[in-house]
Amino acid sequence: MTFRENANIGSGRASRGGRGGGGGGLAVGGGIGTLLLALVVMMFGGNPGDLLGGDGGSTQSTAQNVDLAECQTGADANENVDCRMKATMLSLEDYWTGVAPDAELTQAILFSGAVDTGCGQATSQVGPFYCPVDGTIYLDTAFFQQLEGQLGADGGNFSQMYVLAHEYGHHIQNYTGALRASQQDAQGPESGAVRVELQADCFAGAWAGNATRTEDPDGNTLLEPLSREDIESALSAASAVGDDSIQERMQGQVTPHTWTHGSSEQRMGWFMRGYESGDPNQCDVLNAGSVDDY
Ligand SMILES: [Zn+2]
Repeated sequence: MTFRENANIGSGRASRGGRGGGGGGLAVGGGIGTLLLALVVMMFGGNPGDLLGGDGGSTQSTAQNVDLAECQTGADANENVDCRMKATMLSLEDYWTGVAPDAELTQAILFSGAVDTGCGQATSQVGPFYCPVDGTIYLDTAFFQQLEGQLGADGGNFSQMYVLAHEYGHHIQNYTGALRASQQDAQGPESGAVRVELQADCFAGAWAGNATRTEDPDGNTLLEPLSREDIESALSAASAVGDDSIQERMQGQVTPHTWTHGSSEQRMGWFMRGYESGDPNQCDVLNAGSVDDY
């Protein structure tokens, strides 16, 4: 997906946080803070240790971080991944404030290495996540290299935007109360956790179905029309982070009783249900008879 070159993205609610770049004294690895965190937050996919090989080593970011204040136009968003996240936040906010005007606004904090959050300390190893305690999305854009390389997504811009849209979906679930189902029923193929994750994918699809109509603060459209390649890019990411796909790659076998996010087919299916309907009311995975009823 391409941002309109002249779109005004100056007010996107993204900022930089964290302790990367050699500053902080936070140990990187599987510390207790990281373990506690994993129980509370909504992660993007799989088990973080599995995703990164579980060796406890640090995650090297090779992303080119920019000063987010310098991200001012759609052209910036098309060129730089950090600016792209900022601009995507603007589109998501415009869409969701129309759908759920009473929900508090969220923000995205881009970090490298490690970050302090309302849910505890986290490292990049957990992947992108949403913390319901402080209502904030945390994302190290180095994850996108892993998503493309290790997990097999196509690396397109829209695959990255889908990731952020999924996390924004968790913020909406925090508002609706749906997130609780994840805490109460944490794993298994039909679990509350899987249903919550699939609903976040469906919400991401509902945004995608409306994204080209979202506007910048000047009332001009943010995005060029979606292409077929854009949708295929999002689907490649949704497929890459299916529990079955990750388990196959990381442990060589698929164990549905430990699923937390749903299969590749289910994640793609619910994204498409949201996209094709453009209606988040079609995303009631929690009350669906089966998680396959997309
Ligand atoms: Zn999630």
